[in-house]
Amino acid sequence: MPNDYYENLGVDKAASQEEIKKAYRKQALKYHPDRNPDNPEAEAKFKEVSKSYEVLSDVGKRSQYDQFGPEAFERGGRRGGGGGGGDPFDIFSQVFGGGVFDGIFGGGGRSRRDPNGPEPGSDLRYDLQIEFEDAVFGVTREVEIPRLEGCEHCDASGCEPGTSRSACPHCRGLGQVSVNQGFFSVRQACPNCRGTGQIMEKPCRKCRGEGRVEKRKKIEIHIPAGVDTGSRLRVANEGEDGLRGGSRGHLYVVLHVREHEIFKREEDDLYCEVPVPFATAALGGKVKVPTIAGAAEIRIPAGTQSGTVFRLKGKGVPNVQGYGRGDQHVRIQVEIPSHLNRAQKQKLEEFDELCDESVHPKLRSFLKKAKRFFKS
Ligand SMILES: [Zn+2]
Ligand SMILES: [Zn+2]
Repeated sequence: MPNDYYENLGVDKAASQEEIKKAYRKQALKYHPDRNPDNPEAEAKFKEVSKSYEVLSDVGKRSQYDQFGPEAFERGGRRGGGGGGGDPFDIFSQVFGGGVFDGIFGGGGRSRRDPNGPEPGSDLRYDLQIEFEDAVFGVTREVEIPRLEGCEHCDASGCEPGTSRSACPHCRGLGQVSVNQGFFSVRQACPNCRGTGQIMEKPCRKCRGEGRVEKRKKIEIHIPAGVDTGSRLRVANEGEDGLRGGSRGHLYVVLHVREHEIFKREEDDLYCEVPVPFATAALGGKVKVPTIAGAAEIRIPAGTQSGTVFRLKGKGVPNVQGYGRGDQHVRIQVEIPSHLNRAQKQKLEEFDELCDESVHPKLRSFLKKAKRFFKS
């Protein structure tokens, strides 16, 4: 059975990033080796859950996973997914933060990122619905996304202008303190400075010391011709600002294309059904056909049956990679006249009298095959 990262976390494919984080917290606490000593099964599960979270919590990796499945991230995977073999304990302490980690397990001391080093901004995902025709021809759309940006008031430092940071007196700038626990002395993140080793003289009043504030940013998204539902556009460096000089994340726009009332689409081909009067189908003639680029006309031969498909070459969707254009397939639907008036009925009855088996070849061959069933 293929390894399903969503299943590992117990969320469904449409889960938000917030739900994924929540699910990870729950599973990781349940299977953490400190809670399940000498239980290799739990440890395996813990690693599986961490790997799943590592991929799904990163919008870029998640979209790769959605497209290519887990192979891209399994050990020895060839698809340049960046492997994704982070230390499960690092992932755990990043999510829970050193303090919580120590608080729960009384452990600590596992390797952690430098709390004062640069931290890259998160990637963002934005789901955008577009019209069918916009997907075919391409369009530029302006979207407004909420994201964290560096605080202008404090120049992203987190300190109110004119004030600064100083070493935390509680831990003497180390970020960690030793706590006696029974016979052991255990190091924990300093509660006074939350492990950073520094305290602010006065936190910035605009960002409350975070260095970032939530802003709504208008961004123009250039959607190329030929995209479809599920297409993902990467807008480089339009994600969240990093912290302490960390790089900015990327924005991933996931497209959802609205249905069309006439056309259905499959890859680059378009399909539509066109009703044709019974007499036109019998006599042959011109039929007006809509195409995505305007009106067209096809000539159908005499005796065209319902369900016959005509192909309009090159009238489909331009390939998003630039490989030509799809076709349009027109399926004829012969309409049998209804609600006939007296005169119309009379003409049809006269017509029927003129008919012999030769005008209904299908019926003729059917009667031949079914003959023995009609005897008696
Ligand atoms: Zn401290
Ligand atoms: Zn600020």
